[in-house]
Amino acid sequence: MEGASCPARVATTRLRPGAARTAVAWCLISTLACAHRQSPPDLPADDQAKALDALERKVCLTIGDRTNSSRDRCELQVDRSTYLQPLREVFSAAPPVLKAYLCSLDRLYFDYHSPWNASFSAVPDSQTGREYRSIAIRRGVLENRVRYADWATAWNQHWWTGGPIDRPSTDPTLPRVEIEATLNGPAGTLYHLVAHEVGHLLDRDYGGGLRRLPDNKPFEPGEFGYLSWMQPWYVGETGVVQGVARDSAFEAVRTLDFDGNVKARIAMLNAAGTDRPFDPGTLAVVNWQPASRDGIATFLDRLEHSPFTTVFSTWRPADDWTESFAVMMLPSIARRFDIVAANGTRVRVLAKVLDDASPFAPKRRFIQGAIERALTDFRARQAASPNPCLAVALAGSRPR
Ligand SMILES: [Zn+2]
Repeated sequence: MEGASCPARVATTRLRPGAARTAVAWCLISTLACAHRQSPPDLPADDQAKALDALERKVCLTIGDRTNSSRDRCELQVDRSTYLQPLREVFSAAPPVLKAYLCSLDRLYFDYHSPWNASFSAVPDSQTGREYRSIAIRRGVLENRVRYADWATAWNQHWWTGGPIDRPSTDPTLPRVEIEATLNGPAGTLYHLVAHEVGHLLDRDYGGGLRRLPDNKPFEPGEFGYLSWMQPWYVGETGVVQGVARDSAFEAVRTLDFDGNVKARIAMLNAAGTDRPFDPGTLAVVNWQPASRDGIATFLDRLEHSPFTTVFSTWRPADDWTESFAVMMLPSIARRFDIVAANGTRVRVLAKVLDDASPFAPKRRFIQGAIERALTDFRARQAASPNPCLAVALAGSRPR
């Protein structure tokens, strides 16, 4: 299977028998030097418009099941303010590598088939033989106009409570995410989700994480996973074998809070059936074992002093990579992204990402290397076969 990762290949098969062959990754976030540049310099407005038009043509509001191929059917009308305007804002704000990956997609889906937040797919297309690459975003995120700070807070809380992904709880004993961003509305949420999925594609192309075989092989020096993990996350004979973080104290807190809850969510989605797609963003998970409030505070205190960036990043190595990449993209739209526990413990995510002396720095250097290799290849591709979208993407980057 190509392009698979993420929590629930198992769930994919159960949820969508017709799509079982397509290895969809269920998931939910250039250089830093270029990250603060909002738009490429000296580029005619006409080129920007052409690039955005090219991007808009990739948007598909899926009709029926999704196969992640050129066979998929799309609604004829795409509401501009709901879908296209946020996408334009995301593209305009994105650093070169994020722009270039968006340009390289065949499709950008919005539909109800993403049980979490988003997914990516990269599979050979039966009609063209070429690899068909897409990212899919849960439609409700944009339809409900979920503001970035609300989504980030609710998504963080979800891991502890199983609560709705799009609606933060007002319970003062739960952590919140404080964001200072230029994209505050649904475009900010879309930016974070797209960056996460592009991170999976970058890992697959240049990171070595998603194509390592066998996938239960212990990590070795030179692999991204080696930086934080003793054992990879994989699907063994007995089902999913959880990854083991190098920091044993951290891992002990993590397993207390996480194990079993993903299964509860998958069970809920399976029980809902496939006859009528629904948006799981507004639903709480049934049978979720909530974390203890003390456990949350301890976890966030450890997170602040660890090489991990978000709660989600500690789940397994593939999402450690993608969350690391995503937060490296965040300085383009945010000055602050803090996870704040009820007792005041504060995880300053962007400060950690930008600090050369932080425990995160080795991960940043690793991913930076992948980004530079990707940009080199994008430049070569553009030289051989120019297209307006990639021209705009690469205008903001400089070869080193
Ligand atoms: Zn993911």
